[in-house]
Amino acid sequence: MTTDTRHVELDAVVVGAGFSGMYMLYRLRDVLGLSARVFEAGDDVGGTWYWNRYPGARCDSESYLYCFTFDKDLAQEWTWSGKYPEQPEILRYLSHVAERFDLRRDIQFETRVTAAHFREDLNRWEIETDQGDRVLARYFITGVGCISAGQVPDIKGLDSFQGEWHHTGAWPHEGVDFTGKRVGVIGTGSSGVQAIPVIAQQAGHLTVFQRTPQYTIPARHGTVTPEFLDEVKGRYDEIFEKSRWSRGGTHYDEAEGSALEVDDDERRRIYEAAWEQGGFKFLLTTFGDITFDRRANDTAAEFIRSKIREIVDDPETAEKLMPRDHPFASKRALIDTNYFDTYNRENVDLVDIRHAPIEAITANGIRTREGEYELDVIVFATGYDGMTGAFNRIDIRGRGGEALKEKWAEGPKAYLGLSPAGFPNMFMITGPGSPSVLSNMPPTIEQHVEFVSDFVEYMVEHGIELAEADAEAEAEWVDHVNEVASKTLYMLADSWYLGANIPGKPRVFMPYAGGLGVYREKCNEIAEAGYEGYVLQSREPVEV
Ligand code: NAP
Repeated sequence: MTTDTRHVELDAVVVGAGFSGMYMLYRLRDVLGLSARVFEAGDDVGGTWYWNRYPGARCDSESYLYCFTFDKDLAQEWTWSGKYPEQPEILRYLSHVAERFDLRRDIQFETRVTAAHFREDLNRWEIETDQGDRVLARYFITGVGCISAGQVPDIKGLDSFQGEWHHTGAWPHEGVDFTGKRVGVIGTGSSGVQAIPVIAQQAGHLTVFQRTPQYTIPARHGTVTPEFLDEVKGRYDEIFEKSRWSRGGTHYDEAEGSALEVDDDERRRIYEAAWEQGGFKFLLTTFGDITFDRRANDTAAEFIRSKIREIVDDPETAEKLMPRDHPFASKRALIDTNYFDTYNRENVDLVDIRHAPIEAITANGIRTREGEYELDVIVFATGYDGMTGAFNRIDIRGRGGEALKEKWAEGPKAYLGLSPAGFPNMFMITGPGSPSVLSNMPPTIEQHVEFVSDFVEYMVEHGIELAEADAEAEAEWVDHVNEVASKTLYMLADSWYLGANIPGKPRVFMPYAGGLGVYREKCNEIAEAGYEGYVLQSREPVEV
């Protein structure tokens, strides 16, 4: 090892200091006793919660499920303030975790990894950063997030805009003062639906530019009391264990019954109760077949449309807000606070850009085919180059100098969504082909981190130098991911899950829709069979 801190050899390099990178560092360093460094572009921990500071940003998973579970004391000592944690609270939580486990001393902030090349001559990864670091590491592990590469659409004229503009995923730390301003929001996905009601309260006038209307369920944030959160702590063991083996990473009793086997009154009663309760329970606990049977799904979709009709005063606006071109939850299901009610405000207008698309951004605002809207601020809630975007922004090369970007030109390929064949000792936490974004993230991250750290421990104990996904096992896994997705309604929407939001991106369903519990079981079986599907190369020739 050299003495220059910028040119070092380590056991592992981890990219990103969000939930994934933080826990990975803890496992590698504090559990396995290896040397590891995390590189993080931001100036502190938090990952998505560091960058997403837009008004109204909060998590759609309930607070007591959106946290680490690996340390019982950590879980007991932290107290959430309500049902869905707001971004500042999650950031405080992650800062507390960093402090508690003294993680920051091995995280190099304000440093972006620019390249990672597998050096076949050394059996090491050579990692370079924008700060001039060059590190050799045995293991290259990514915790880059699934939705971290923000996407500002290429609209003619943005450079000429005289006002200010921001993407929700790169929000100024000092905040944005909308008081009295004319604000335009483009995008009505999870970020837009959260930001719109909050911006509307402050702005002089808000214009929402909507391409696809959305199904969204009220969050009902106020329905959880401190007493409930306190009582839940007594049941954490049971709650966390059930979440680990569930489909969606929660402990909810997921519905099995069919929406088509009850009469209209009973179906409406069940939907009404779930609507009142709020949140993802509407999707998970009403009927089991709404995610895969179109006719069952139609009943949920129609129920939500009836709610839009009830809530929105102006029938023309209500009509524009009604989703009809895709099934409920075939795009990411949304949860909101006062989203539809916001369109009853005097200072809010809805512009349908599906039928009158944006033609240009001008010096003064946004011009659609039907007219020009004068604006002081434009908010791009336009999403991300999901799952693969963050990888493509790093020059990652495996054996023979093969670029990951080239390998993935027709869609991402990786065994278990963890290990691309041809890229030895590389592991992706919540990579494409894993349950990741279709599940509550912390338990799915913990499963991946634990699989990787157990695998690394196995390699150390068995004198294994390299672990590389077998190309055939990878191909079978990719087929399996596609097959599972093909039976769901996800295929019927133009969503970022399918890369449909990025011009030219191949239409491939990227996350694994089989559920976290099923996936965990498969991973456990693979580990028990001596990491089946991986080619393991010993450090020394093994005598037989
Ligand atoms: P998103 O779901 O991809 O939504 C982007 C929105 O921008 C969509 O309404 C999209 O319309 C619109 N859009 C994109 N490009 C456009 C263009 N060129 N012209 C006009 N409209 C355009 O992005 P997001 O809302 O940032 O959410 C991304 C993911 O992050 C979510 O699915 C979720 O997984 C995660 N997230 C979670 C939370 C939470 O837990 N509370 C909050 C925020 C984000 P189309 O629908 O027509 O494409």
